[in-house]
Amino acid sequence: MSPQPTSKAAPIVIVGAGVFGLSTAIHLAERGYTNVKVLDKQPYHESLYSYTKGCDAASADTNKIIRAAYGSQVEYQTLALEAIVEWKKWNDELKTGKNVPAGLTTEDVLFVNNGNLTLSSHETLPDFEKETIENMTKAGLEATQVVLNNPDHVARAAANGFGFAVNPLKRDQNHGLLDLQGGFVYADKACCFALHKAEQLGVEFILGGSQGTFAGFLHDGSSRIAGVKTADGVSHPSELTIMACGGWTPSLVPQLDNLCETTAGSVFMFQLQPGSPLWDRLAPENFPTWTYDIRDGKVGGLYGFARDPSGIVKIGYRGMKFTNPQEQQDGVARSVPITRWTEPSTRQLPSTAAHVIRGFVQEHLPELLSCEVKSRLCWYTDSFDNHFVIDFVPGVEGLMVATGGSGHGFKFLPNLGSHVVDCIEGKQNGYLDFWKWRSLGPGQTPYNSINEGEGSLRSLHRQPLTGDDSLAPSTSHL
Ligand SMILES: Cc1cc2nc3c(=O)[nH]c(=O)nc-3n(C[C@H](O)[C@H](O)[C@H](O)COP(=O)(O)OP(=O)(O)OC[C@H]3O[C@@H](n4cnc5c(N)ncnc54)[C@H](O)[C@@H]3O)c2cc1C
Repeated sequence: MSPQPTSKAAPIVIVGAGVFGLSTAIHLAERGYTNVKVLDKQPYHESLYSYTKGCDAASADTNKIIRAAYGSQVEYQTLALEAIVEWKKWNDELKTGKNVPAGLTTEDVLFVNNGNLTLSSHETLPDFEKETIENMTKAGLEATQVVLNNPDHVARAAANGFGFAVNPLKRDQNHGLLDLQGGFVYADKACCFALHKAEQLGVEFILGGSQGTFAGFLHDGSSRIAGVKTADGVSHPSELTIMACGGWTPSLVPQLDNLCETTAGSVFMFQLQPGSPLWDRLAPENFPTWTYDIRDGKVGGLYGFARDPSGIVKIGYRGMKFTNPQEQQDGVARSVPITRWTEPSTRQLPSTAAHVIRGFVQEHLPELLSCEVKSRLCWYTDSFDNHFVIDFVPGVEGLMVATGGSGHGFKFLPNLGSHVVDCIEGKQNGYLDFWKWRSLGPGQTPYNSINEGEGSLRSLHRQPLTGDDSLAPSTSHL
């Protein structure tokens, strides 16, 4: 039997309504597939992708970085530029009332173009930023890149309305690069928007409780997967099953061993009060999205955002990757997410993360120290080379994965799924060459660069949560 569904009416089941599942569902429906069902254990219709309401997927978050700057990786630069065009269209769809999901109004925006600043403590521009300038120049977009210590560039940024974004931390030695095309999206709102869009296109969602929770595959007696069973005992037959379960995927599809691993980053959320002098200074119209020494390993790996409408200022740490290896039924230990909402749960986070974030805040935004702060672990699905994994599972008919976000998948919510559908339809596509099934060969070194949240399998900066690093309780103040 060919791996493609026999017709556009054939049943397709997607497990996971995060970025990978949502984007796939939208693009399947847009290409005419009429029998697409998405299952998720989270009741997103009610919880609206809010972490405070129990959502602990990578996609369920306050905000995520949008950048077009991708160093030498010109293929992701192109994909991100395409995504930004789509994000702007989604903003318009919301503003004009074409698609307004529950919990959002036409006053909301998804993508905010307040610039993406890559700050560096080094005096010379890191190679990644130099390569970004080179590739943006080749694309005719040189004017979108602002070298922070170049007065002509700074004047250009100001002339384009981005003067506020050049030195928001008021550093004496301000080194780095500002990408005028970047900014952030409100992640939870963007997921609600995408879910609603998919529903408008005819996709069925079964969300929350035992009805939405994947419990196992249906087999038809051969090596073919014939659908899935949910925890309520109901069968969902399908010609194609797509596992898009984020950090849970490697334990549900063990064939991903040696290709993907689930790792945690740490996130701090500072609560500003409306009267605070930081309220205006850190508003999105006055403050850009930023990263700091993002590829410098343990001592760097920081990123952050303008405050959100409720006054939350989010700062994340990804300088080290943390894992939670748990022995599974087949005797193999795989890292699985542990959060405030899982069973067992944790309210703790690695003390290295707390230490590095505290040091950064003390130096650059000391006013935040007196704010109430909440912290959380956020779980990535890292491939060893930081490319996504979108392919059929070898040797198993009827089963695909769409995963391996490797800390940079969110920005592609509007366009990623188109490539998943190309894969399903067997269409040649340059991206699918990067994202095909592969495994880390003997002696091969995993890619170890860190972007807004990137890491890699068995990288230098990875350690188990229970390893050398002690766990710090999440505190109400830093
Ligand atoms: C801290 C952090 C910061 C990041 N920052 C950025 C950024 O700034 N910019 C950017 O572009 N990218 C960023 N990323 C990456 C991006 O968020 C991810 O690539 C993307 O959200 C992954 O989406 P997903 O669909 O693969 O996984 P998830 O969002 O984790 O979704 C998986 C879904 O599967 C469901 N599921 C799991 N198990 C089951 C089951 N048994 N039954 C039913 N459902 C199940 C879950 O409930 C969940 O809804 C970041 C990631 C993290 C963790």
